[in-house]
Amino acid sequence: MEARIITLPGDYIGPEIMREAVKVLKRVAQKYGHSFTFEERLLGGASIDAYGVPLTDETLAACNAADAVLMGSVGGPKWDNVPAAVRPEKGLLAIRKGMQVYANLRPCRIHPQLAGACPLRPDIIREPIDIMILRELTGDIYFGKRSRSEDRTQATDEMAYSVAEVERLARIGFEMAKKRRGKLCSVDKANVLECSRLWRETVQRLSAEYPEVEVSYMYVDNAAMQLILRPSQFDVIITGNLFGDILSDESAAIAGSLGMMPSASLGDGTRGLYEPIHGSAPDIAGKDIANPLGTILSGALLLRHSLGLEQEAAAIEKAVSEVLDAGFRTPDIYSEGKEKVGCIRMGDLVAERI
Ligand code: NAD
Repeated sequence: MEARIITLPGDYIGPEIMREAVKVLKRVAQKYGHSFTFEERLLGGASIDAYGVPLTDETLAACNAADAVLMGSVGGPKWDNVPAAVRPEKGLLAIRKGMQVYANLRPCRIHPQLAGACPLRPDIIREPIDIMILRELTGDIYFGKRSRSEDRTQATDEMAYSVAEVERLARIGFEMAKKRRGKLCSVDKANVLECSRLWRETVQRLSAEYPEVEVSYMYVDNAAMQLILRPSQFDVIITGNLFGDILSDESAAIAGSLGMMPSASLGDGTRGLYEPIHGSAPDIAGKDIANPLGTILSGALLLRHSLGLEQEAAAIEKAVSEVLDAGFRTPDIYSEGKEKVGCIRMGDLVAERI
């Protein structure tokens, strides 16, 4: 098949990890007879330096015209003092909103080879942990009105959700649960927040259409605790933007390394935005020690969800697993007795195994 992929390497380690992901995708194209074209664009600090804004209209238009978008990571100390309106992270919010990708998928799986990196006790992770966190991405308090009183001593951020926003996210969750282990947990704060009550009512109403899915409801404070006490109880979790932001980072910590975790952001249709969940890691940039696996695995999600290439996606995931089995580790996941490799070598090792 032919596909046009926009790459947005971003800042600091962004370009390093992106090079490895593109290397692996090119190898997939070669092996399976596809033609992928890659078009690189600027986002975040790199775009601020070149154009004065973190995301240009042209770049957004190019992303919306492509089959899929693969992103590295943005931001860093170089742009800490630019005005809030043009901060690199604004580019992230703008591209998510501009591409209308409202569903953020974050798989949380413990690679058995990295169980030692999981901070939970071995008896807690004896049962397999395979959670799909589905976070709403274009609504909630992150996109509500914000204000500060004239004397600057009081601040307000508005949280808002509509039935339509909850419904479209929940439907993806129900469909996913059907294809997985048939369990869906909806996380909210319905004992306090009106937005959460609307969220819960909407999910309850939809659940009648999915009798094969077992639905549970959990307050976010309890969910944060249950993820640590008994993570194996979860299959698909659906939640709003704010709660999802926090719970998905917690799940990343459970999985062991930030550098390993991919994510996909989907909207209607097949176009999607794919990125590792970590930031631009300014402390390790330019040293060839960043872990490219989160970005490489995001490439696998891109093949699966935007291009419908399941076999090829699985080939990348298998190659990553084999490289870990063979004992290769970037410094962030290194443990004694393993072979330490850099970012470029890690990319080569995965590509060789496709
Ligand atoms: P970070 O994720 O960049 O780094 C946290 C720690 O994890 C650091 O010690 C870093 O070295 C390490 N780390 C992260 N990714 C790694 C990888 N692939 N391999 C090995 N180690 C890795 O978070 P931070 O330090 O809080 O943020 C740095 C910058 O990134 C900030 O400007 C922040 O706003 C931005 N950020 C961007 C995104 C994004 O682009 N989606 C997400 C989070 C943070």
